[in-house]
Amino acid sequence: MSDTIRVRFAPSPTGYMHIGNARTALFNYLFAKKTGGQFILRIEDTDQERSTPEAVRVIVDSLKWLGLDWDEGYFGLSEEKGEFGPYSQMKRLSIYNEYLDKLISLKKAYYCFCTEEEIEIERQKAVKAGTPYKYSGKCKKLGEAELKDKLSKKERFVARFAVTDNALVKFNDLVRGPVEFNTKEIGDFVIARSDGIPIYNFAVVIDDQLMKITHVIRGEDHLSNTPRQVLLYQAFGFKLPEFAHLSMILGADRSKLSKRHGETSLLAYRDKGYLPEAMFNYMSLLGWYPKDGVELKTKGEIFKDFDIKDVGHSGSIFDEKKLTWMNHEYIQKLPEESYIKYSLPYLVKTEKSEDWKKDVLRKIRTGVKFFSQIPGLASIYTEVKAVDEKAANVWSGINNAAATINAFIEVLKANEITKENCKALIAEAGKKAGVKGKDLFMPIRIAITGAEHGDELANVLPALGSAECVKRMETNLKNIK
Ligand code: GLU
Repeated sequence: MSDTIRVRFAPSPTGYMHIGNARTALFNYLFAKKTGGQFILRIEDTDQERSTPEAVRVIVDSLKWLGLDWDEGYFGLSEEKGEFGPYSQMKRLSIYNEYLDKLISLKKAYYCFCTEEEIEIERQKAVKAGTPYKYSGKCKKLGEAELKDKLSKKERFVARFAVTDNALVKFNDLVRGPVEFNTKEIGDFVIARSDGIPIYNFAVVIDDQLMKITHVIRGEDHLSNTPRQVLLYQAFGFKLPEFAHLSMILGADRSKLSKRHGETSLLAYRDKGYLPEAMFNYMSLLGWYPKDGVELKTKGEIFKDFDIKDVGHSGSIFDEKKLTWMNHEYIQKLPEESYIKYSLPYLVKTEKSEDWKKDVLRKIRTGVKFFSQIPGLASIYTEVKAVDEKAANVWSGINNAAATINAFIEVLKANEITKENCKALIAEAGKKAGVKGKDLFMPIRIAITGAEHGDELANVLPALGSAECVKRMETNLKNIK
């Protein structure tokens, strides 16, 4: 048991699941898969103002959609699995208090009663002097009697960790190598408040220790928190876990990934009709550089090839275009049955039969990059399209366009159009109207599809059927004049 690798994903439920967070979860999952370890979900909900139950649900939905089945931890409101729970921090307050008391009695932490205003004055002084702000340590010097008095009066306090000045904090990072910080830069930092709610750096250490986490894999934005956490590990005499800080995810212009670069919420891609398998594959490449250079990989191949040693430390670019390209590849490779299953719900309601719908879906398949494009791509088959302006201009330059359409209407009223007779029926109309080539095809295309360009007539017309073609031609003929 003691050798088992245990990793955790510890999101704060304060909004949607950002791509960057989802990538952190994915890399933890891949690391666990690769090493035969366990993957744990812990909810860090101590920010009471920003945490919401809805955001917790989004976390669970996001991980499930991406296919990151975790072994232990939080699974739903009153659903937990594992022997190291509870797995949401607000249910662990008594545990943190117990550890806080330990630190206080060891004199490694102390209560601080400075008001926000006092702290602000100190901060302003530091700004003026051009030095980084550090708490003065004033309350560390409080006498026993004074301390008792303040506590009995229930004055508001915070608990601060007593940092030894000018010491080196060292740890090894699996992505970045050895990291060193001088405690000069770290003042006595706050670890808990008088309402009994711990601060992240404190709670995370207690939880990771008690949950027997062996590897802490998270975003680079937490690198500057790690020295504080290392100090806490040392104060308690806990064994340090291994750390791996993943580089930030950037937009194509190398600035921090934001809405400008596309969707930043994982579930927005689900809602647009991306395949979770494609998302999984694409996101695995956000920072991981497979040794063989092959980017399109199945889940099984990713499990086999993933190695934390091949994770780079410079920012990784989230390129929505590349993701869309990959999703297109995945959609084209789906077995036909699955493609139909995924795409059918996207087709707008129509009276047409199931077979007709499937036929349309097959026809537009090569153009489908993500499923929410389906209504647009299929609209040529599913809606009567009014003739657009460009097509109307083309129409007016064609000789006898209306006569050609009337001839085709006559032909279709007498025959059901099929793939086989399509060409011949068009030719028959041409003969009747005395036109051929573009003068024949273009009015038909425009009167039926409303546009100058589009899928081949031999695909479109039989799919619509004679009656629908006639209806469209009659409507458009009336309107175009
Ligand atoms: N709750 C923190 C976050 O969402 C977790 C950081 C960590 O993994 O230690 O950023």
